[in-house]
Amino acid sequence: MIRNKRFRTDVIVLGGGCAGLSLASRMAESRTGPAMIVVESRAAYQEDRTWCGWRLNPHFFDDCVVREWNSWQVVDNDGEQLQASDEYPYEMVSAAKFYEKACGLISASESVKLLTGATVVAVKETPAQVDVHLADGTVLCAPWVIDTRPKTTELGWPWIWQSFVGYVVDAERPHGLGFDATPTLMNFQAEEGHVAQFVYVLPLSPTQFLVEWTRLSKNNEPLAAIEGRLTRWLDEYTPRWQLVRRESGSLPMAVPVKEPSAPRIVRAGMRGGSMRASSGYAFHAIQRWADDCAASLVTEGFPVPPVRSRLLEALDGSFLSVLQTEPGAARELFTELFAHCPADPLVRFLAGQPKVSDYWPVIASLPWRRFLPTVPTAIGQWCRA
Ligand SMILES: Cc1cc2nc3c(=O)[nH]c(=O)nc-3n(C[C@H](O)[C@H](O)[C@H](O)COP(=O)(O)OP(=O)(O)OC[C@H]3O[C@@H](n4cnc5c(N)ncnc54)[C@H](O)[C@@H]3O)c2cc1C
Repeated sequence: MIRNKRFRTDVIVLGGGCAGLSLASRMAESRTGPAMIVVESRAAYQEDRTWCGWRLNPHFFDDCVVREWNSWQVVDNDGEQLQASDEYPYEMVSAAKFYEKACGLISASESVKLLTGATVVAVKETPAQVDVHLADGTVLCAPWVIDTRPKTTELGWPWIWQSFVGYVVDAERPHGLGFDATPTLMNFQAEEGHVAQFVYVLPLSPTQFLVEWTRLSKNNEPLAAIEGRLTRWLDEYTPRWQLVRRESGSLPMAVPVKEPSAPRIVRAGMRGGSMRASSGYAFHAIQRWADDCAASLVTEGFPVPPVRSRLLEALDGSFLSVLQTEPGAARELFTELFAHCPADPLVRFLAGQPKVSDYWPVIASLPWRRFLPTVPTAIGQWCRA
C-alpha cells in the first residue's frame, strides 16, 4: 500500500502486536488525533495465543473475552489453594478476536494505517524527527515513534526465563489432580534442576481445555524439550487427547533496564515495562497504557510511555532473586502467597494496581527469612529505576 521511497506521518508505531494494535485501534475508533502508521513484520495474523489475566476495570477489548472464571487454584504436593473473587474475574481474551477487531477498526480508518509484512531495519533520531528504515528501502519519518519491538539487548539481573508450550486439546479433563471447572494457575511439578516447573490448565468446556507446561529457568530453554514434557504429561493424565491449537513463548521475566535516552522515541508494550516481571502478565497493563497514550495523542499531540512503579519493580527484583536461590523456593513462594493472602489484594498486586493497604497482606504471606539477603538488590533496583 505505502511503498513510496519516503513517507511522512505524525506517529510511527514499530510492531503491530498487542501494544501496537491496542493503541492503533483506539486511535482508529476516535477518528481524531494525529495520523499514525503501524509497521508489523508479520504478513498475516493468526490465532497464536490467548491473553489471560484479572479484569480490574473494563477495557477496550471486553468484547473479545471468550471465558471468565471467578475462582482459580494453585496446586502442589500438599494440596490445592483455592481462591475466589466476585469483583475481579480471571478472563481469557481470544487473540483471533483481538486481531479481527483491531484490523477491522484500522482498515476503516482514514488516519491510521497498518503496514504488514514490513520489517524495521534501522531507526535514526534527529532533533526534529525520527527516520524509520524498512527492509524494502522505504523510509518513514515522523516527529514521534512508539517502539514495541521486543528488546534484543541484555536483560538486567535478576532475570528468569518463563518458557512454555501450550496445547488446546479435546479430551476428558485430567483425572486425579483436583482439576474441575476451576482454572489451575500452577500445578507444581518436580523441578528437575530448573527454578520451577508447573502445569497451567484452563477448562474451556467439558471436553476441551488449554494446558501449558511452563518452565522457569535461568536459561532460555529449548521449547522442544518443554513440548516433550507436556505431551508426556497429557499421555499420563488424559489419554486419547487431540490437539486443536498450539502456542508457545519464552518471556524474559526481568525488571526493565534503562535504554539510551531518545526524546522522540517512546518504548511501550513489554519493551516499555508493561509486563509484570514477577508473573509475566502484561495484557491488562498494556490496555491501561493504550488508554493513556491515546488520550495524550488526541489532546496533547504526543505519546506517553507506560506508567511504572519503582516500588513494584523493586519488590519484583527481590522476588526474582529469591526464586532462583534454591530449587523449591519458587514453589514455596507462590504457594504461600495463594494460601495466605486474601484474593482481592493479591489480584490487585499481581495485576500491578495495588492499593496502599494491599502491600501488607502480600508481604505478610511470604516467608520473610528468604527475602532478607535480597534487600541490597531491592535497594539497587529502586536506585536504578
Ligand atoms: C504465547 C504467549 C502467550 C501469552 N499469554 C499471556 C497471557 O495469558 N496474559 C498476559 O498478560 N500476557 C501473556 N503473554 C505476554 C504478553 O502479554 C504478550 O507477549 C504480548 O503480546 C506483549 O505485547 P507487545 O506488544 O509488547 O509484544 P508483541 O505482541 O510480541 O508485539 C511486538 C510486535 O513487534 C513485531 N516486530 C518485531 N520486530 C519487528 C521489526 N523489526 N519490524 C516490524 N515489526 C517487528 C512482532 O512481529 C510483534 O507483532 C503471552 C505471550 C505469549 C508469547
